Amino acid sequence: MLKFFPDLKENDKVKVLCLGAHSDDIEIGCGGTILKIIEHMPQVSVDWIVFSASPARREEAINSASEFLNNVHEKEIIIKNFEDGFFPYNGAEIKSFFEDLKNLSPDIIFTHYRHDLHQDHRLLCDLTWNTFRDHFILEYEIPKYDGDLGTPNFFVHLPSSIYQRKVDSLLKHFGTQENKHWFTPETFRAILRLRGIESRAPEMYAEAFHCRKLTWGI
Ligand SMILES: [Zn+2]
Repeated sequence: MLKFFPDLKENDKVKVLCLGAHSDDIEIGCGGTILKIIEHMPQVSVDWIVFSASPARREEAINSASEFLNNVHEKEIIIKNFEDGFFPYNGAEIKSFFEDLKNLSPDIIFTHYRHDLHQDHRLLCDLTWNTFRDHFILEYEIPKYDGDLGTPNFFVHLPSSIYQRKVDSLLKHFGTQENKHWFTPETFRAILRLRGIESRAPEMYAEAFHCRKLTWGI
């Protein structure tokens, strides 16, 4: 399959913005891709924003994000405490926070999928597109009870070392989720393996995204 490469040199400074409603969303949706970006673009800077976390989940989010971004020199991890499950009903506050993010001017934005059935996820996606009007946005997927997975069109192949690191890290850091029936290594492997099949990943696993707009730089 023909591969497209971003218009970047190895030492270009790339600014990445990761947006996640809950403490483990970014890692589940795009953790492997973040690790791959860091490996290939050492000058990357990352803003990592989690919108909702209880005190226990806040600590988990900070520890996990810190480990994922261990090799990133320029990074900011922000954990907000908007009420879990109520984002659409507290939309004005969250919209106002997004206004402050306009100054970041990121090169790549990771956010939730537009047709995600979790109301918090969906609102963040809407506000991402409202706020960033000339940006490269990738929407990630979160497996869940609602059964809302779509047909993604943008794939990132994961080497086995990165795939394993992602899964191990999720299990290591998010102890509060152990009682959730879906929070198992099989879940994380399954979705990565399926996306690997769909994109002929050489080492079997891939993360997948919905890319709505991409301009061809020729
Ligand atoms: Zn979530």
